[in-house]
Amino acid sequence: MQLQYFVPVQIYFGSRCVELNADVFQSFGKTALIVTGKSSAKNGALQDVCSVLEKKKIRYGIFDAIEQNPSLRCVEEGGKRARAERADFLIAIGGGSPMDAAKGIAVLARQDVAPGGLFTHAITGDVLPMIHIPTTAGTGSEVTPYAIFTNETEQTKKSVSSPSLFPKAAFLDARYTQDLPRDITVNTAVDALSHSVEGMFSVRSNALTDLLAEESLRILMPETEKLASGMISFASREKLLYGSMLAGMVIANTGTSPVHTMGYSLTYFDKEPHGRANGLLLPAFLKACEKKDRALTEKVLRALGMTQTEISERLFALLGCGKAYSDETLMKYAQIAAKGKSIRNCRVQFTQAELYAILRGSFERGAQ
Ligand code: NAP
Ligand code: FE
Repeated sequence: MQLQYFVPVQIYFGSRCVELNADVFQSFGKTALIVTGKSSAKNGALQDVCSVLEKKKIRYGIFDAIEQNPSLRCVEEGGKRARAERADFLIAIGGGSPMDAAKGIAVLARQDVAPGGLFTHAITGDVLPMIHIPTTAGTGSEVTPYAIFTNETEQTKKSVSSPSLFPKAAFLDARYTQDLPRDITVNTAVDALSHSVEGMFSVRSNALTDLLAEESLRILMPETEKLASGMISFASREKLLYGSMLAGMVIANTGTSPVHTMGYSLTYFDKEPHGRANGLLLPAFLKACEKKDRALTEKVLRALGMTQTEISERLFALLGCGKAYSDETLMKYAQIAAKGKSIRNCRVQFTQAELYAILRGSFERGAQ
């Protein structure tokens, strides 16, 4: 058996974990820059962090200009701010957008690269140490070496990957996700389940990543049933956060698949939220995989605990149907996706025409 696995993040999970582990912040230095968005700062996380920093006499600034699907411009601004504040470390508070933006800021704060260089140069060496605090339960960015930025030149979102982008520590407290609106809760939960499914299809999957993926799906799937009926208790919030962290630990080692690659166009051009974009594509992707690799698809369906029809219906109950797209638009999305590197990361290989068929199949309901 061949196996590799690497997630060098110190994880603190549980209610009040920030307050209970205040000393950890002190070990990072004397000056922090908090990186967050406007509403992701309003769930108690920012308050808890500021109170710990004040208690430990750590100076801090707050950069709260992170937009959804962060652009290089906003990362550049954050990098300048981190330099101006002479920050010893960053604390990212928010969903995937602030957490990913912090990773880009960590590089630009310490290295003399143009923001566009994040896409074109291998990221190595010195970056600002990062502490990540997720306030959505979905991306798993707190345990991954990836940052996804909007790439205007290529008209898509593009992933940057480097072991240097792993945060040093992550604090996961489900209280910070308690007031997430239902639609964001659903979309982010679907992102997490998509990570585990796509991880199982990855050419880099192995016994350990499969174990994590199967465990995350075992935890997440019953919660998606509750979400469909509108019930979101604190216990559910904790399970969603834990399951999404496990799914993050999967993709940290496997990467994602054509679902994420195609989903980027739905987000870039049509403003579909990231997790929802993946969920709209997942049923047609699974059906296409079954035709080419029945055994692997059956293994994934077993992990989901569902048949093809049941997973389609569950995602439909959660997300409804997508827009009605023209053939021309979907052909363009298939063409963009075919250039994405995740396409080659999948054990089931698809041509551009087959990617188009998955996209077309995903939006048949919307077209009716
Ligand atoms: P997000 O873009 O970070 O946040 C979505 C919305 O939720 C924003 O309006 C945000 O407010 C709000 N929000 C966040 N926490 C909240 C809370 N506790 N209460 C109320 N509102 C809250 O969404 P996301 O789905 O978490 O992240 C998506 C991004 O992550 C995408 O760019 C995706 O490509 C990326 N991603 C990264 C990885 C990775 O491994 N690095 C994996 C998957 C996805 P603000 O605008 O104020 O922040
Ligand atoms: Fe994702």
